[in-house]
Amino acid sequence: MKRREFIINSILALGGTAMLTTGCGKKDIIRQEGQVVKRKFKDLEIPLLGFGCMRLPMNGEEVDMAELDRMVEYCMEHGANYFDTAYMYVNSMSETAMGKVLKKYKREDFILADKSPIYKMTSRSDIRKIFDEQLEKCQVEYFDFYMCHNINKNTYDIYKNIEMYDELLALKQEGKIKYLGFSFHGTPEILREVVADKQWDFCQLQINYLDWDVVKAHEQYDIVQEKGIPVTVMEPLRGGGLVNLSEKAMQKLKENYPDETPAAFGLRWAAARQNVITVLSGMSNLSQVKENIQTFIDYKEMTAEEEKVADEISKIIQSQGEINCTACKYCMEVCPKGINIPAIFALYNQYKITNNNFMFKVYYETLAEDEQAHNCIKCNLCNKNCPQNLEIPQLLANVEEEYKKVQNLERK
Ligand code: SF4
Ligand code: SF4
Repeated sequence: MKRREFIINSILALGGTAMLTTGCGKKDIIRQEGQVVKRKFKDLEIPLLGFGCMRLPMNGEEVDMAELDRMVEYCMEHGANYFDTAYMYVNSMSETAMGKVLKKYKREDFILADKSPIYKMTSRSDIRKIFDEQLEKCQVEYFDFYMCHNINKNTYDIYKNIEMYDELLALKQEGKIKYLGFSFHGTPEILREVVADKQWDFCQLQINYLDWDVVKAHEQYDIVQEKGIPVTVMEPLRGGGLVNLSEKAMQKLKENYPDETPAAFGLRWAAARQNVITVLSGMSNLSQVKENIQTFIDYKEMTAEEEKVADEISKIIQSQGEINCTACKYCMEVCPKGINIPAIFALYNQYKITNNNFMFKVYYETLAEDEQAHNCIKCNLCNKNCPQNLEIPQLLANVEEEYKKVQNLERK
């Protein structure tokens, strides 16, 4: 791997230890020696740690199938048999890769979740066409969990216009979907409409101790809880933002819990929400898998004191002005200039934590010239795809300005 790619991937991978899961309280947790804890959901026992398939191990431009095979095998051996993929994950390679790796297991031994890419749809007939393509790529006859992917203020009208719910319900009635849900990145107002008159089996929300306040995750959680809709958790570690804590935030964690890692702390926090089925972790290598699985084999419920510390860490992070990018790369799908937006924001966030001008300049300049922020033409296409509702062109302009300041300092 080239040095530039290595550095960027290393920075982005800092978020890769994240994952999710949860249970519905102590009484619902199923423990078995050497296995991750599980909880009952309808006819299934679901591991509280789910495998998010959006940051698969890479070998250059391709998925590293040998490493993925080892990771999945380790998961299966320890009861972590929930896999969450999507049409667009890993440049649309995730479904095919997971299909190849899961083929060697009996279908009833793993739980597969996939998602319908609303952004690609223009008519109701597209839904089934893409669904069939997904079954083929994953080499399965049905999906256990299937979602309308990323309902937000920009996709909600498409979702309604193409009658997505009705078409997916028909697929469920045909036995091709066991449980029907949606993943959500919109406002509480839209969420209320989405759940108002439909029968959803579950939904996928972004829940972590930072977003609980920052993007009103608590309001979303309350809305679905009132409706009795269970939750699968995405971004429990906020794309790594809650793994790579600032010095001050880390100090707060360590002075209270010296033996706790930021990843385990964040995952356990997400898992402690009472309405959660599973917490997804986007794992990129075997060592992340092993670390996360151990957290869920030794699973400890969050205490009230720990909840308080999480709240204090959240306030510290919020006061430090970092960019809340989760590195999902949805913006890059539409950027006509090929700007490496998540890498730029990851570099900037690291810079804000370390205050190291020199390293910021060095790392920033490892980006190809045509991937840098100054190429932005402010077309705003990326904003429409950003689940975090970031004002991307403005943030890029801020980073560019900061970079120029650092350049000038370095010249002096
Ligand atoms: S506003 Fe800038 S970053 Fe966003 S899509 Fe357009 S060129 Fe790309
Ligand atoms: S800027 Fe938004 S869309 Fe782009 S990677 Fe970050 S969170 Fe995802």
